[in-house]
Amino acid sequence: MTEKTDLYSLSTAELTDFVKSIGEPAFRAKQIKAWLNLGTPIAEMTNLSRPLREKLAQLTLDTLPRVDTKLTSAIDGTVKYLFALHDGAAVESVFMRYKHGNTLCISSQVGCRMGCRFCASTIGGRVRDLLPSELLGQIIAAQRDTGERVSNVVMMGIGEPLDNYDNVIKFLELVNAEDGLNIGYRHISLSTCGVVPRIRALAEVELPITLSISLHAANDEKRSAIMPVNNKWNISELLDACAYYYTKTGRRISFEYTLISGKNDTEGDARELAELLISTFRKLSAPIHVNLIRVNEVKETGFREGSCEGANKFAATLESYGIVATVRRRLGTDINAACGQLRRSAKTSKEE
Ligand code: SAH
Repeated sequence: MTEKTDLYSLSTAELTDFVKSIGEPAFRAKQIKAWLNLGTPIAEMTNLSRPLREKLAQLTLDTLPRVDTKLTSAIDGTVKYLFALHDGAAVESVFMRYKHGNTLCISSQVGCRMGCRFCASTIGGRVRDLLPSELLGQIIAAQRDTGERVSNVVMMGIGEPLDNYDNVIKFLELVNAEDGLNIGYRHISLSTCGVVPRIRALAEVELPITLSISLHAANDEKRSAIMPVNNKWNISELLDACAYYYTKTGRRISFEYTLISGKNDTEGDARELAELLISTFRKLSAPIHVNLIRVNEVKETGFREGSCEGANKFAATLESYGIVATVRRRLGTDINAACGQLRRSAKTSKEE
């Protein structure tokens, strides 16, 4: 049997080749693409003949994520999805409403193998990479379910996007395509724990997306203790790659810094962080932006969050060095919106 075609992973050019290969005229590709953008099941693609719909259903794989569980925050309307994938795996996405539009936080892998000690997504390891269609499909499924447009995408859900590099690049092209979802690269952020060669590769392709670096510590000893990836590529290698990225793309890089009580949240830590970032970026005249987030407590990790005042003080110290520091507002605290926790609790309860 020949392999089934994953329609949602195809660009319009590839879709055109596919429809031609099954003996259909090229304009069918446009019709099908328009339906796919809406997440319409093949059976409901009403401007295609019934025999064509039947043929398509036979030849293709339906990879659109299905809503398995949906939790809506009573506090701020944030929606958390647990999506079921075609092979029974599950990932999470979070739909957040901001004044400037809706943002969807998407997952890039089923599980994760990066091993960050504070993170729920990595506890069971990596199961598999998501296909381009499944990356895109989270957005399509969320738009279909909410009836609202997603205008910003952040790759900050489950998984390490740069550990699924080729599929992520393909996804970025699909989501940006004018006849696709047409979301501008500037409205897309990719967050990485620091896969250095892939940061350099991403710089080479020069897509003007926003890069976020999960830094979380200002020296190698502290960073290696919470992020095993740092043993492979240390802070100095990471910041060199960031400087290269900035030089190549001109895009400002955001640094994510999760405040963990007693581990990385003192005034001294703030000063060390400021000096570290300045030593790399000031000479490039690059703006420095740090997002601070108090660690979400995950039962298994034992890490504790500090106070709001502590976070504000940390931010003020960074600002005294001329660094822009934002303490991230938390959305959906009543629905376990922090990444990885819903998939984990679903898995645990099914195993019990
Ligand atoms: N693998 C990518 C993207 C997924 S994680 C990365 O590491 O950047 C998205 C962000 O959430 C990262 O900055 C990550 O370090 C952070 N994060 C993970 N677990 C967290 C927790 N328990 N509390 C606060 N932030 C967490």
